[in-house]
Amino acid sequence: MAQIYCVANQKGGVGKTTTTVNLAAALAGIGQRVLLIDLDPQGNATMGCGVDKRALEFSVYDVLLGTSTAVQALVTSPAASFQVLGANRDLAGAEIELVGLERRERRLRDALADLDDQFDFILIDCPPSLGLLTLNGLCMANGVIVPMLCEYYALEGLTDLVNTIKQVHANLNRDLQIIGILRVMFDTRITLQQQVSDDLKGHFGDKVFDTIIPRNVRLAEAPSHGKPGVVYDPHAKGSKAFIEFAHEMVRRTQPQAAARQKAPSA
Ligand code: ADP
Ligand code: MG
Repeated sequence: MAQIYCVANQKGGVGKTTTTVNLAAALAGIGQRVLLIDLDPQGNATMGCGVDKRALEFSVYDVLLGTSTAVQALVTSPAASFQVLGANRDLAGAEIELVGLERRERRLRDALADLDDQFDFILIDCPPSLGLLTLNGLCMANGVIVPMLCEYYALEGLTDLVNTIKQVHANLNRDLQIIGILRVMFDTRITLQQQVSDDLKGHFGDKVFDTIIPRNVRLAEAPSHGKPGVVYDPHAKGSKAFIEFAHEMVRRTQPQAAARQKAPSA
């Protein structure tokens, strides 16, 4: 069974897409079978995987609306060995079109049910809102990865997301939990970031991932080359951090697989 994670935070520009794309590529790089689902009409994750969002025959929009199957809509990232269910501007209409449909929060889950055993990880890049698209992601996920900037208002913004996750857990998906908070775009020279980081640890304990993603221009450059940062420049410090994060995810979510990886080959 696939481990299914939403990368969510209702704020824009906090590193959701960068996290989803790089974690997908880094997990694929260590032999995991990965599907990335882009649930943001901006299609940034799609493009960041090297897939042209304008050239998609079918997208996640078709899958949600039932005009294509998930299998028909999957494409392989030309940049790394994982699968992509892409998005483009068509998806902007879905928030409204979904309202009138049956099982409107569970359409993604229903459409992907058969693919569950084909992947080790399914990662979902959520849009910067807590509407029906994000809800479709949360309804099928085992957990949520929350990328976060260590800024003064960071904790305050978390309340709405935590409440939404609680609601979904209570009413729609008993499996859902926060897997962890990922500190991103971190700059050790900024004292305030260090303070907020310490506060986060104090508040959330081991729900804060050990890995910290530094601010690194190579990660920001990579999308314009149609590649995840970890593929574009695997030796950049941001890329190394995402590779470490992939190992941490395997350790946290698949203890048996992590043990196998460590075991010496016979
Ligand atoms: P979101 O999906 O939450 O809107 P993005 O992943 O698109 O956020 O990131 C917002 C911007 O910050 C993008 O321009 C991205 O390239 C840049 N960025 C993200 N993470 C980093 C990082 N660790 N270092 C430098 N730039 C980053
Ligand atoms: Mg994004």
